[in-house]
Amino acid sequence: MPVSFRFDPVDLPPEAKALRLEVREFLREEIAKGTFSPLSTGRESSWSPEFSRKVAERGWIGMTFPTEYGGHGRTHLERYVMIEEMLAHRAPISFHWVADRQSGPVILRYGQEEVRREIIPKIIAGEASFAIGLSEPNSGSDVFAASVKATPAQGGYLLNGTKIWTSNAHRATHMIGLFRTSPPTKENRRFGLTQFVVDMKTPGISTRPIINLAGRHEFNEVLFQDAFIPEVNMIGEKDMSYATASAELAYERAGPDRFLETLSTLTELVRSAGPEPGERVAEGLGREIAHLKALRRMSLSIAGMLQGGKTPNVEAAVVKDLGTNWEQALPGRVRHLLPPAEGDESYAAVMRFNTLIAPKLTIQGGTREVLRGIIARGLGLR
Ligand SMILES: Cc1cc2nc3c(=O)[nH]c(=O)nc-3n(C[C@H](O)[C@H](O)[C@H](O)COP(=O)(O)OP(=O)(O)OC[C@H]3O[C@@H](n4cnc5c(N)ncnc54)[C@H](O)[C@@H]3O)c2cc1C
Repeated sequence: MPVSFRFDPVDLPPEAKALRLEVREFLREEIAKGTFSPLSTGRESSWSPEFSRKVAERGWIGMTFPTEYGGHGRTHLERYVMIEEMLAHRAPISFHWVADRQSGPVILRYGQEEVRREIIPKIIAGEASFAIGLSEPNSGSDVFAASVKATPAQGGYLLNGTKIWTSNAHRATHMIGLFRTSPPTKENRRFGLTQFVVDMKTPGISTRPIINLAGRHEFNEVLFQDAFIPEVNMIGEKDMSYATASAELAYERAGPDRFLETLSTLTELVRSAGPEPGERVAEGLGREIAHLKALRRMSLSIAGMLQGGKTPNVEAAVVKDLGTNWEQALPGRVRHLLPPAEGDESYAAVMRFNTLIAPKLTIQGGTREVLRGIIARGLGLR
């Protein structure tokens, strides 16, 4: 068991720096064409299959996936730079985001060859999008209490039950879902769960919208009623998904999206404060940038670990916990420093939206308390 964690400094190689300029250029062109706005209030949909296909044409989906599956065989550091630019510009990347970040890597690592050959090229082409099927009405933080059943049927399994909070399930082409294939054992309560790749068009699957605090339809209930899933779609070994699902969560928590989701709070503050912000605002801004810089350095270090073939569960939990707490408190601190001036609708709208979505930041992808539990275990404290 690890008893510590570390964040070795990582320097970006020249190819990553060159890529940053290339991505910026692409994004500037798209902004100039009116494809999206970097000053969006966040209310606009970031789900755009068209934009994802353009990103795919550039070779920026599946960048780290092996070339034998059509991937681009590039480094995690190059991918990091590309993501950073996409997030900082508020590019509409939701369609391919989950597939590129976690579903693709999980399928590559644990999926069956036939499914890899079928799905991975679609992810890379910007044609397949994924939902995450973990949470259920009685199983959120305690992922391994999942109870949606997968019962054996001719050539596969029948799914029955309800998942909840499933982001984008109403528009994703696929899901990786966690299902109960056997009861837990006395020795291992995590035993008995199996992940499958689910085609969302399968008969017997339906979704019901849940409208979030900001008034948007992003997450859903997903109902399975005798939905058939072929055996070949199984990920890893039957009943043993506690390992594959943990790896998926590490991929989910590892990226800079965990502190860049509401970066517009800061960029709007900078714009509104102008070139001479005054001592108080400059000091406050300096503080926030220092936090951001430290988070970024830690997160980049995680990209270095991924490049080294590691699964940095604990480090990812540290960055997600620190990053989301920082980001959640940001609108309050920024409003205190410099509230939107009368008539500055852009700043006001960004603040409104980022305040409304702040509560979710420390819940999605694992709550604050759960992450701290993981960190404590990683430090050998529990
Ligand atoms: C915006 C958003 C998007 C989401 N998207 C998805 C998705 O796409 N797919 C998906 O599967 N899920 C998704 N979720 C669900 C999310 O993963 C769960 O909400 C989260 O895991 C918490 O589970 P819960 O809501 O059941 O709360 P609970 O697990 O019931 O937790 C309630 C409270 O108890 C605390 N708590 C629970 N267990 C412990 C413990 N052992 N020790 C200390 N405190 C504890 C929690 O920290 C929390 O404060 C999303 C959530 C949000 C907010």
